[in-house]
Amino acid sequence: MPVRADYIVVGAGLTGATIARLLTDAGRDVLVLDRRAHAGGNVHDHVHESGVRIHTYGPHYFRTNDDSMWAFVNRFARFRRCEAQVQTLVRGQYEHWPINARYIRETIGQDWQPAFIGTPRNFEEACLSMMPRAVYEDFVKGYTEKQWGMSATSLSPALAKRFDVRADDDSRFSTHRHQGLPEAGYAAFMDSLLAGIPLVLDCDYLLQRDAFDAARALIFTGPIDEYFGFDLGRLGWRGQHREHTWLRDIDQALPCGQVNNPDPANGAHIRTLEWKHMMSREECAGVVGTVLTREFPHSPQDPGAFEYPVPDDRNAALHEAYRTRAESIPGLLVCGRLGDYRYYDMDQAIARAMLHVRRLLAA
Ligand SMILES: Cc1cc2nc3c(=O)[nH]c(=O)nc-3n(C[C@H](O)[C@H](O)[C@H](O)COP(=O)(O)OP(=O)(O)OC[C@H]3O[C@@H](n4cnc5c(N)ncnc54)[C@H](O)[C@@H]3O)c2cc1C
Repeated sequence: MPVRADYIVVGAGLTGATIARLLTDAGRDVLVLDRRAHAGGNVHDHVHESGVRIHTYGPHYFRTNDDSMWAFVNRFARFRRCEAQVQTLVRGQYEHWPINARYIRETIGQDWQPAFIGTPRNFEEACLSMMPRAVYEDFVKGYTEKQWGMSATSLSPALAKRFDVRADDDSRFSTHRHQGLPEAGYAAFMDSLLAGIPLVLDCDYLLQRDAFDAARALIFTGPIDEYFGFDLGRLGWRGQHREHTWLRDIDQALPCGQVNNPDPANGAHIRTLEWKHMMSREECAGVVGTVLTREFPHSPQDPGAFEYPVPDDRNAALHEAYRTRAESIPGLLVCGRLGDYRYYDMDQAIARAMLHVRRLLAA
């Protein structure tokens, strides 16, 4: 006999866990499955033997301008203020990222101009419409081409909306009103979000579909192309291979938590992280040395390593074909970053999940 629940949520990441939490709060019968050995999806973290807390799938800073979103996450864990700080290695010097107008004035000259005028047709043109070419080449071109494994001229101009050239002395990475990290880590936060909800780990739904029966809806937050056995083709993804180095005798190695490495001559890694910058003074007190993580972008075939959807026309069209198909199946909702094939910041993933729950409860 299959295991039955009104709502079966596949995936215990932020999307699945938020949906499960809100359906449970509304008195609904919910079961959550995840094929990993832990809940939390890609926001999961763990403590390294040095005592350093590592975000297992890359650094995650929570940010929002929405007071109710901030209150929602603080219902499950206390978040302490922590702002991301990023610098870029340019010819051996650490420079602030994002760049600001003062940096451009000092390096290019008072009367600098953006290098492109008009409607940008690709990512490179979108960047050049904000800054001079030399600055683009130092900070953005190499980083982007490592990240996506393709020329910046083949990428969508929309990708450039994720950053801008800041006013004079502004070198804040993010300007959100609320910025923080859960004091006891993301794993504890996610456990709290899922508290009291039946959860089966190490369970790949796609390998045992018949073992589960969703009376009202199946909510699938895994990759949409994998759900359909990739039968229309595979969507492209980029991921990062992470190489950790424990420096036992060094207290702190980098000026901030993230140093970008755009120059291809300086190695294939895209950035280096130093986790201690993301930890409170009290947490750091018990740490031996420091841990650096270098991230090397690649194109994974393993769905567990999918991180960034590739922003180009081929993938947009293929996703649209899968999406249309999923929407024609009654009782199926495919969503989340893997289902929607979209990069969502955490607050966006939670907001989307809240919207889905309102629709499910109204149906
Ligand atoms: C490198 C990186 C850094 C990021 N940094 C930030 C940041 O600083 N700030 C920010 O706001 N956002 C950040 N994000 C975005 C954040 O990771 C996402 O918003 C969040 O992970 C979305 O959650 P999700 O539940 O949609 O997906 P996921 O977290 O991926 O959860 C999906 C879950 O479904 C499970 N699953 C999939 N298929 C199956 C199956 N067949 N059976 C069972 N289980 C299955 C997976 O194991 C996974 O646990 C970052 C993302 C990346 C890639």
